[in-house]
Amino acid sequence: MIEPTAYDRVIAAVRGEPPDRVPVIPQITYTTAQLTGVGLVEALHSPEKTAKALLAGQRELGYDAIYAGWESSFNLLAEAMGCSMRYPDDDVPQVTGHIVQGSSDLDKVPVPDPENAGRIPIHLETVKLVKRKVGDKVPIFCYVPGPFTLAGQLCGVNKLMIATIRDTQFVKDLTRITTEASMRYVEANIAAGADVIVAADPTASSSLISPKMFKTLALPCLKEVLSVAVKEGVIPSLHVCGQTTPILELMCDTGAKILEIDHLVDLGKAKQEVGEKVCLQGNIDPTDLLLTGTPKDVEQAARNCIQQASLGGRFILSSGCEIPPAAPLPNIRAMVNAAVRYGKYE
Ligand SMILES: [Zn+2]
Repeated sequence: MIEPTAYDRVIAAVRGEPPDRVPVIPQITYTTAQLTGVGLVEALHSPEKTAKALLAGQRELGYDAIYAGWESSFNLLAEAMGCSMRYPDDDVPQVTGHIVQGSSDLDKVPVPDPENAGRIPIHLETVKLVKRKVGDKVPIFCYVPGPFTLAGQLCGVNKLMIATIRDTQFVKDLTRITTEASMRYVEANIAAGADVIVAADPTASSSLISPKMFKTLALPCLKEVLSVAVKEGVIPSLHVCGQTTPILELMCDTGAKILEIDHLVDLGKAKQEVGEKVCLQGNIDPTDLLLTGTPKDVEQAARNCIQQASLGGRFILSSGCEIPPAAPLPNIRAMVNAAVRYGKYE
């Protein structure tokens, strides 16, 4: 029998056909800098250095996909749309100034052309370099901004939270713009080589807004963003951080074929609730386990995840959220080994 590629394994899991084993895809980007000795900040401006680290991570640790990117898509879009940024010497850039103070500012918010705006071309070049190297053997995941969270970047999260109660029209008008921006960004990422588009919407978490607000203010925008992936024939995925148990069904309604589930969610219950219709991906604690735990702790947690959610396929072993840059690589290795050891489908 021909050994399936990582790509075959992931596609089977998404389609609900049991693969040879549970695919394992840690949400890892700049942690891979540890393998090439490249500085986290230095790599920000170099597609070659970023791609080299990302490729080394997959090659050396043996996981089943590459998250092609370095800093968050929110930073790239927020900067391209006019927010001011701070560039620390030892960390990724941070948004410092919000471009939208109120409704009267909405006219001046641009929908950027990803091929030419800010530092987005650096990101797109990284995706192309990774794709050129792995071809169709290893799927490429690209994060794109959830419009609700991107709105929070443009006007400030506090202002957005207050507006969800006092001025929903403002939220709708602003997310109209961020939805357009995100859709164009999706198209550019697909053109560069993305196989899976992961809409990340941390501010739409049930830790921050009610399920009702998710349904009216975040879901319709996510649906539009992910529809671009569907139209282009790539896999739509959704990442919402923190507690999302109350919105699992609604997350499926976005059209996502994969739900990235954070460690606060009971994976077994999620499997029961939506495991028949969507591929679940998660959910090892990125901080308490992958950053500060031991390989033994990670192995045990990975084994638990596999027991709770692998039955019948539609499961990808992963971290609950993005892995911190300083997470020890032996912990990532332990996670991959656990999928190989305990994740076989007979
Ligand atoms: Zn997250």
